[in-house]
Amino acid sequence: MSVNFFLPTRILLDDDCVRKHAAVWKEFGKKALIVTGKHSARANGSLQDVTDALNAQGIGYAIFDRVETNPSIANVREGAAFAKENHVDFVIGIGGGSPMDAAKAIALLACQDLADEALFTGPYTKDILPLVLLPTTAGTGSEVTQYSILTNDKAQSKTSIANPLIFPKLALIDAKYTQGLPLRTTIHTAIDALSHSIEGSLSKRSNALVDLLAEESVRLIAAHFDDLIHDRLDAKARANLIYASMLGGMVIAQTGTTAVHAMGYSLTYFHHIDHGRANGLLLPAFLAFLENEKPEPVHHMLEIMGLANTAAFRDVIDRLLGEKETITDEEFRKFSGIAIQAKNIPGCLVVPTAENLYQMYVESFS
Ligand code: NAP
Ligand code: ZN
Repeated sequence: MSVNFFLPTRILLDDDCVRKHAAVWKEFGKKALIVTGKHSARANGSLQDVTDALNAQGIGYAIFDRVETNPSIANVREGAAFAKENHVDFVIGIGGGSPMDAAKAIALLACQDLADEALFTGPYTKDILPLVLLPTTAGTGSEVTQYSILTNDKAQSKTSIANPLIFPKLALIDAKYTQGLPLRTTIHTAIDALSHSIEGSLSKRSNALVDLLAEESVRLIAAHFDDLIHDRLDAKARANLIYASMLGGMVIAQTGTTAVHAMGYSLTYFHHIDHGRANGLLLPAFLAFLENEKPEPVHHMLEIMGLANTAAFRDVIDRLLGEKETITDEEFRKFSGIAIQAKNIPGCLVVPTAENLYQMYVESFS
């Protein structure tokens, strides 16, 4: 057996964890930059909990609440300039993947002058502001990953900063912030987490420990397929989903994502399809593609989900996602050409060709 596993993030997952662990902030400094989206952190109580905790510890803060969904390079540069103006010691990201990923890039750019190209490739110095992340969606697992995924207009896609430097120091995870998450976002983000665990486990970089986490994550999410379809998620279901999402993040922190994410980025970039939805639209065709050459691991995944075959999986995904978007054949050709160049393609258990990617796009929208 061979295991390779690295996760330097302290995880505190609990009901009311921000209040219960009020003392954790002190080690990070005297002033924080809080990075959020425009509305949700105020509406779901997470921002209030954090500012109450900081006030109680006598820690100052400035709030950058202008993170866009699928943040751009310009957006994180604006955040980094704000961090420098405010002379902060650490960064707290609160929100879905967009604010958490933005917080990572801001923490990096506040300490290092990196041109757009170098932002994604390095070389980096060791300088970065410490990061604390609080997820308010249950999908990306960004609170435990070394990835920050930004909209990259030059590549007409989404590109990741992928470096251990941007692992958060601390993840504070409380499902209560996701209680009011709209059903569509809940479904799309749950499928994102499912995709992380499936892609990670069905990648060349997986190992026994990664599989353990991936399988538990897939099992938990699949157990709530019906609740998601029928909109009957209770607090227990929300808790399971945010835990499963964290597990999915731990998986891709080891393996990276593969073809589904590589293909999904074009659907988000060109059609503004939510990240998790984009992955969900493509996941059944990906499993069918892999099944041709590597049936056993695919059948194992289906078994964990309690599904008989890839057709049954496609049926569940269709019910979760509803009516699909219309995309032209010409676009599928273009998107395949972009996706084949993505750095996550070679990690696939069966490495697809551009033609395979094109076929998967066609099958996904037929
Ligand atoms: P998101 O883009 O962060 O948020 C989507 C929407 O949900 C926003 O309108 C947001 O509002 C709202 N929202 C967030 N939390 C809410 C809550 N508790 N209640 C109500 N509304 C809430 O969505 P996401 O799917 O979580 O993140 C997607 C991003 O993560 C993409 O950029 C993707 O590439 C990235 N990602 C990163 C990783 C990684 O490892 N780093 C992995 C997968 C995906 P506000 O704008 O007002 O907050
Ligand atoms: Zn994802």
